[in-house]
Amino acid sequence: MSAAALPALHASHGGCWMRDAQGRMAGSTRPIGKGEAITAAADAPLLMLNAPLVASRLGYPDLAGLDLLELFAFIHPARFMVPTPKGLAHALDLPEPASDDAVPALLQTAAAALLATCDDPLWGAREGAWSALQSLARLHWGWTDLLAQRIRRPERAERWLFARLPEWEDAPERPQPAQIVLEDGEIAGRLAELTGSGAETRAGQQDYARAAGAMFAPRRAVHQPHILLAQAGTGTGKTLGYLAAASLWAQRSGGTVWVSTFTKALQRQLRRESRRAFPEVRDGKPPVVVRKGRENYLCLLNLEDALQGGFTGRAAIMAQLVARWAAYSQDGDMIGGDLPGWLGTLFRRRGIAALTDQRGECVYAGCPHYRKCFIERAARASAQAELVIANHALVMVNAARASGIRGSDAAQRPTRIVFDEGHHVFEAADAMFAAALTGAETIELRRWVIGPESKSRGRRRGLAARLADVASYDEEGARAIGQARNAAEALPGDGWLARMSEGAPYGPIETLLAATRTLVLARDESGGQDAGYGLETEAAELGGAYIEIAGHAQEALEALRQPLVRLGLRLEALMADGPDWLDGPARARIEGARGAIGWRADLLAGWIALLARLGGPGDPDFVDWLALDRSDGREWDVGLHRRYLDPMKPFAAAVLAPAHGVMMTSATLRDGHDWDSAIARSGAGYLDVTPQLFAADSPFDYASQAEVLIVTDVPKGDIPALAAAYAQLIEAAGGGALGLFTAIRRLRAVNGRIADRLARGGLALFAQHVDPIDTGTLVDIFRDDPRASLLGTDALRDGVDVPGHSLRLVVMEQVPWPKPSILHRARRLAASARGGGQAHDDHIIRARLAQAFGRLIRTRTDRGHFVVLSSAFPSRLLSAFPAGTPVHRLTLDAALQRVSGGVSARETALPHESRAEKEGP
Ligand code: SF4
Repeated sequence: MSAAALPALHASHGGCWMRDAQGRMAGSTRPIGKGEAITAAADAPLLMLNAPLVASRLGYPDLAGLDLLELFAFIHPARFMVPTPKGLAHALDLPEPASDDAVPALLQTAAAALLATCDDPLWGAREGAWSALQSLARLHWGWTDLLAQRIRRPERAERWLFARLPEWEDAPERPQPAQIVLEDGEIAGRLAELTGSGAETRAGQQDYARAAGAMFAPRRAVHQPHILLAQAGTGTGKTLGYLAAASLWAQRSGGTVWVSTFTKALQRQLRRESRRAFPEVRDGKPPVVVRKGRENYLCLLNLEDALQGGFTGRAAIMAQLVARWAAYSQDGDMIGGDLPGWLGTLFRRRGIAALTDQRGECVYAGCPHYRKCFIERAARASAQAELVIANHALVMVNAARASGIRGSDAAQRPTRIVFDEGHHVFEAADAMFAAALTGAETIELRRWVIGPESKSRGRRRGLAARLADVASYDEEGARAIGQARNAAEALPGDGWLARMSEGAPYGPIETLLAATRTLVLARDESGGQDAGYGLETEAAELGGAYIEIAGHAQEALEALRQPLVRLGLRLEALMADGPDWLDGPARARIEGARGAIGWRADLLAGWIALLARLGGPGDPDFVDWLALDRSDGREWDVGLHRRYLDPMKPFAAAVLAPAHGVMMTSATLRDGHDWDSAIARSGAGYLDVTPQLFAADSPFDYASQAEVLIVTDVPKGDIPALAAAYAQLIEAAGGGALGLFTAIRRLRAVNGRIADRLARGGLALFAQHVDPIDTGTLVDIFRDDPRASLLGTDALRDGVDVPGHSLRLVVMEQVPWPKPSILHRARRLAASARGGGQAHDDHIIRARLAQAFGRLIRTRTDRGHFVVLSSAFPSRLLSAFPAGTPVHRLTLDAALQRVSGGVSARETALPHESRAEKEGP
């Protein structure tokens, strides 16, 4: 049978189309109803693209078919593809389908083209294909028969995944970096090399690069790093600006610069741009390394386990496709690397996460794949690198865990750090230094100590199994392991959530969680009760009975913390003693275990401190509250939470104090022209360091490139009116719209009302939290199709980098007020005490508006409208937009006219608000 002999189905918001198998009714494509499509899919395997998305369009979750995305992942592992008909056509060099009804024919042609690749002697991914196919045949994968006709058994046994992967090599420790001062002239020279001789001279960029050089000056006193806060408007060219100084310093000093980002989009851009500043290889090593948290990388041991029966059914098929990818992957990064983001969502479960080392169960040198491990390779490469590209969370983790480590691990400590997207450092620190004593967190800890409960298959094992050799050698260590294991029985186990709602908790921690749930349900007045949202209440006036329960929980946690601390000390003593069996690999494994035990002991200490303060006077440094997490009314976690009132305090101690130079940079670092909040949010004040300040305006001509439209006649809370406004605005712009929402519920309601209508007009609409597609892929789809629009929430506000025509309209459903949570109230109160409660809120809103506006104009040639649907938009917030941007308050009808006319249509211009008005109260 050939692929073209199979019927093909396509479904969009605009309808369904089916093309019959060629041969019977050659070449006929017809529109069909959803019911008929579902029946046809049940009768025979149909070719389709992205089966979960087709299922969602048909409203029939159990739909199955021959998914071309799965075939693509098998034939072209580790190759990028936008998972749309157009993206498929581009990837295979086929003509784009002109309309929805041309898609089924494309699916048949594409399937034939993909299968024909197997006959191509130059097929780059042939090695391993036959072996993988044998396993996939046993799993009854739908594509097996068609592939088996084309993939012949190799004459010699082929190298399979674990044999193909290269081993990493140990390198000697690097000496400390040389103390050097960068001269302005040499930085300017390096910048000129990077931008190229034909490039226009950008004065702002040159000043910026020179300013960046100051952070690399030798430090004058301990705990007194150079701190630079640099605001650089969009288009300044800040990436190459700081890379000029960073590459010069790294090369001449022999040290490592860490560049930290908040979004994956910027990380990708940095990867590209760093190629201009650094060679591919220097002295046999890559000078630039992208480094992510462990939980991003494939764990080969987990994959082996999954391939050998740990995963069953569809998940086992996914594991085989992941193994195909791993053999060809550049770096084993599963989240944002070269694994297609869409692969995991095809299998409708959290299988991808289960293949990473989420829980810190790595056995290091005890692992048969240790020398090929992607995580170990990345860690070693970064210790030798000149530039490490990482994210804010990882930089903070590495800095915080660096105290007390020795040898090569000390090289993981970032000392020269550029925080790009610096406006997110505060929230990254807030998450990093938080404590959450919840059901989900405590059951994870239990599994880490004890191992998974009974019936679970697979290799996951508890602490005792991971440290069996230590236990057999060291009596005290064995005793500590046994005590920790027994104490962990007090933590919540499988089924804890059900026991919670049945009022039958087991053990001291579940009892605490149940009491917490009762209190939250009794006290929450946030209005989330009926809406099905999460609920919370402050940790105050908790009552004697609750305090008693918390006391028992505290004892139980202490009973676990103590043996873990003892075990950590025993491992340290073992390392110092160095018994005969402790060779290099065993030493590495014990060092790894010591680190993992250390940070779990710290986690427990944080929980214990949280419980210890309940009932007593509050600690002014912290905000504590109780929360019940729910989505759509379904409870999924409950517990106690603690945040620093100002997370920059621990940030200053853990990250800034040990550093020598830190730069925080962004297009939206300061608030208008005011530096105060940026300085306060840098943490510099905790070290008595006065940061250096730098600002460069954007070179863009916002007066002619953009317009802000404040639509005053869409009533707040009126969903039909909101949906109609979105639909009309998207139609007026002809697509290319990014719709931003502050509540998922409203996003879904609007999407549900307008998607079909837009599709009938040839305007595709995608939505985060609705379509079964990961966010990164949604942005890829949006970027790829200038007529597509995308609805989303926070993550899209500044995670979207779509220059050009694909993004020409941003619509915010309302003013993005901060959620009035307990944490927000506490911080607002603290700001009021300093005279600025309202200013605190305004700062948050302006920052959000500025970030959202920043999506619109990415290059000198971009043009577009920024629309806020708000009848009461305070003028004092208008300083969020770049100076010179025209602002109009107008009706929806007038806004539609302006949007359909494009930004250059000036003849109907309304008198827009002057700067003086913008800066008014
Ligand atoms: S060394 Fe650790 S993370 Fe790497 S493959 Fe082995 S168990 Fe997984």
